[in-house]
Amino acid sequence: MTGQHRIVVLGAGYAGLAAARRFARTARDARITVVDAHAAFIERVRLHQQAAGQRIPAWDLRELLERKGVHFAHAVATDIDTTGKRVVLDAAPALDYDTLVYALGSVADAERVPGVAAHAYSIATQEDMKRLVIPRGTVAVVGAGATGIELAAELAESHPDSRVLLLGSEEPGAWLSSRARTHIRRTLERLGVEIRSDVKVIEVTAAGMRLADGSLVEAAATVWTTGFRVPDLAARSGLAVDSDGSVLTDATLRSLSHPDVYAAGDAALVVGPGGRELRMACATALPTGKYAADAVVARMRGAEPRPLRFRYVLQCLSLGRRDGVIQFVHADDAPARTVLTGRTAAWVKERVVRGASWAARP
Ligand SMILES: Cc1cc2nc3c(=O)[nH]c(=O)nc-3n(C[C@H](O)[C@H](O)[C@H](O)COP(=O)(O)OP(=O)(O)OC[C@H]3O[C@@H](n4cnc5c(N)ncnc54)[C@H](O)[C@@H]3O)c2cc1C
Repeated sequence: MTGQHRIVVLGAGYAGLAAARRFARTARDARITVVDAHAAFIERVRLHQQAAGQRIPAWDLRELLERKGVHFAHAVATDIDTTGKRVVLDAAPALDYDTLVYALGSVADAERVPGVAAHAYSIATQEDMKRLVIPRGTVAVVGAGATGIELAAELAESHPDSRVLLLGSEEPGAWLSSRARTHIRRTLERLGVEIRSDVKVIEVTAAGMRLADGSLVEAAATVWTTGFRVPDLAARSGLAVDSDGSVLTDATLRSLSHPDVYAAGDAALVVGPGGRELRMACATALPTGKYAADAVVARMRGAEPRPLRFRYVLQCLSLGRRDGVIQFVHADDAPARTVLTGRTAAWVKERVVRGASWAARP
């Protein structure tokens, strides 16, 4: 024990890196260690591009962090002993902490519908990408949310010989303004995507999928994009979590059950504008990661941090490399009237993605 405050950040995604970047500037007197199962930071928001065969950037985490004086442990966190304040790792010695920032993100939810885990691909993590094979023939993208829309557009643009189906229980972009929805539909159709709304997939098989109305849809590959779930480490370790396993936090992102633990990003349940839970997004992971670091440092210095203040500004969707939708939103994420489309939107989205990566990297 050196007397130094020991901060361990679990997860080097947008939230964990934003926290580490902040700590590197504001807590130089602390010993900061970031843990991640992967050696490289990959821009997760570009995984649909990688799925369509594009190369996406990767940054070496050790190099990125250690040049800022932050230690890096390349290992899987397998257990948190919240009484002994120690994180157990699979491939490195256990880490003792005074403060823990939990930012383990999310993975694809493949458990809710039979056959998804065995027969469908996902594009939520680096592991998913190693498994993914886009064959010739029909590719069915299930889920007409942002990830499904972006993937269908990207695949159709880069694989013009393939047949791309987009299946969802609602129309693509149902939560956006009518102008945005119209543009998404027109663009997907222009790219040749076949849209099937109002369908419910009840089983995925090796040959395709079965719908609730009893019909079968054949596909050479099915990509499941309908939801994300959080890792179970927090729940297994006894942190207070909701029914999905997200860490319950107060207005300063401190765990409701363990005051020396903070949570940020997809793995945290954070109450936002209008009393609604913040949605999983890098647009929420970055500010919550940064804020969590500020709250930790404030308390290390004996001050009480101000509650997190957060408001939404934009929702950005790419529709291939040359088109997109930028939906301006109110503070509570409800769509406003202003929408950008076409090349301008594609340009803005690319800037936002680059900016997010820049904001995360120390
Ligand atoms: C295809 C796609 C497109 C997206 N597009 C957008 C977009 O346009 N805009 C937007 O705002 N959001 C988008 N998102 C969502 C966004 O990527 C996530 O909300 C964001 O990455 C969350 O950041 P995070 O830091 O909480 O978690 P993550 O980025 O998931 O990072 C978590 C990290 O924890 C590590 N980890 C997990 N478990 C362990 C463990 N036990 N031990 C060690 N390490 C572990 C992982 O390796 C990972 O590096 C998209 C997501 C996908 C999949």
